[in-house]
Amino acid sequence: MSKYIMTLDEGTTSVRTLITNKKGQIISMAQNELKQIFPKSGWVEHDPIEIWNAQKTTIVTAKKEGNVKSYQIAALGITNQRETIVVWDKETGLPVYNAIVWQDQRTSDFCEKLIREKKAEIFHKKTGLFINPYFSGTKLKWILENVNGVQEKIKNEKILAGTIDTWLMWNATGGSVHATDVSNASRTLLFNIHTQKWDEELCEILNIPMKILPTVKSSSEIYGYVKKDIFSKNATGNVPIAGILGDQQSALFGQLATSVGDVKNTYGTGCFTLVNTGTKPIDSKNKLLTTIAWKIGNNKTIYALEGSVFMGGASIQWLRDGLRIIYNAAESDFFTKLVNDDQRIYVVPSFTGLGAPYWDSSAKGAIFGLERGTKREHLVKATLEGIAYQSYELIEAMENDLKEKINNIKVDGGASQSNYLMQFQSSISNLNVIRPKNVETTAMGAAYMAGLAVGFYDNIDELKKISKIDVIFKPSMSISERNKLIKGWKYSVSKVRNWTKEIE
Ligand code: ADP
Repeated sequence: MSKYIMTLDEGTTSVRTLITNKKGQIISMAQNELKQIFPKSGWVEHDPIEIWNAQKTTIVTAKKEGNVKSYQIAALGITNQRETIVVWDKETGLPVYNAIVWQDQRTSDFCEKLIREKKAEIFHKKTGLFINPYFSGTKLKWILENVNGVQEKIKNEKILAGTIDTWLMWNATGGSVHATDVSNASRTLLFNIHTQKWDEELCEILNIPMKILPTVKSSSEIYGYVKKDIFSKNATGNVPIAGILGDQQSALFGQLATSVGDVKNTYGTGCFTLVNTGTKPIDSKNKLLTTIAWKIGNNKTIYALEGSVFMGGASIQWLRDGLRIIYNAAESDFFTKLVNDDQRIYVVPSFTGLGAPYWDSSAKGAIFGLERGTKREHLVKATLEGIAYQSYELIEAMENDLKEKINNIKVDGGASQSNYLMQFQSSISNLNVIRPKNVETTAMGAAYMAGLAVGFYDNIDELKKISKIDVIFKPSMSISERNKLIKGWKYSVSKVRNWTKEIE
């Protein structure tokens, strides 16, 4: 009888369920969109009940389409949008408020206040993060302080809180397991990544009672079992939930970036770049985040440095929807082939400011080096290159922090389909860029974690044998050319920095 892994992939815009076989091939997949709720400017919420119902529907559909019985599911893995927080009543199972999504900015004034009160250092030392509304802690504080009746319920031991993995697992086990994994915990601003415990001092500063927080476990172990009737009325399978990873860490593991110096870069709307730093948390000198990558069972915890580019594939969308000089994203590669001169055009797509290593919210985007002969193809090419230069700077920062050579860049996400972008990324970073055949790396990370916990997979070497490479892009640029191009990029970035401050 064939056995499979089922993975719940709960993203920001949709929830999905994937069923994969022992070779890591996808047997079936089902997806449901999620409603985005914007109650006020800067506020972003999801309905937790909708999330769970949508997830349940995709579980049933994926099982049906793959013709898989519940007793054939060896284990279930969960990967999720990180930092989004839910608070619920454990007796009724009902949320006390919508889930506050990672993008939500409602706590930005409070975060500024914490920074003014010189709390940044305490939080950074213990959590590896910066004080920012992005992380869960201040959102959780907001719910506890602004929703009627919650304080009373806390006193009566009725309240539970958690990130989306915790919410899904609590529901999937019929309310019997209230737990999370270290990768999700490390994004809350409440978790000490060194002691690997909820931190009393940080919880006190944010006025969060520790008893409402989930138990923190490894990323690969049996947490509990799925309530049978979630699969179907007569389901017989005793399916363990055995793997949990936040989405970016899951992509890192799904790419099998398991050696120190392995980088994964996801080229989605933005780019999320993580480097495996092994068993040591590294304090960045370049404004990167230190985060927990994963912990497999009783093995040592693995850490990562993380940075992001705000405008990744979104810069290609700008060419299409803003400038209207391409019809679709895939066309961008075609235009790069039309350039037959050596104009040095730079598009710096810092439309929403610059992320690491600059963190400059007053930067704006710009185009440099325009000539009389500059055509649309030059702009398209320079925009793709702009995505690669930004990622290059993150990887350069990672190399400086790690003080070790980066091995390679493992890529995924929509814009990794651009061969020109991948080749340029390889040349400008002077590193091999590896694109896998299975682009569902986020789901695969949690699937692998679940599989490892139950012996469906023996070890990481077995996973490496089944993962297939699509293309390896190799550097093909002289050192002098590379240095010249990078110099031009850095000069261009220096011109956009502090832009709004300067012109006011
Ligand atoms: P997200 O998960 O953030 O929605 P995806 O991984 O689905 O992102 O990637 C979508 C992004 O990839 C879009 O911004 C789009 O512009 C870009 N993209 C998709 N295909 C290509 C392509 N062939 N060349 C360049 N960019 C692409």
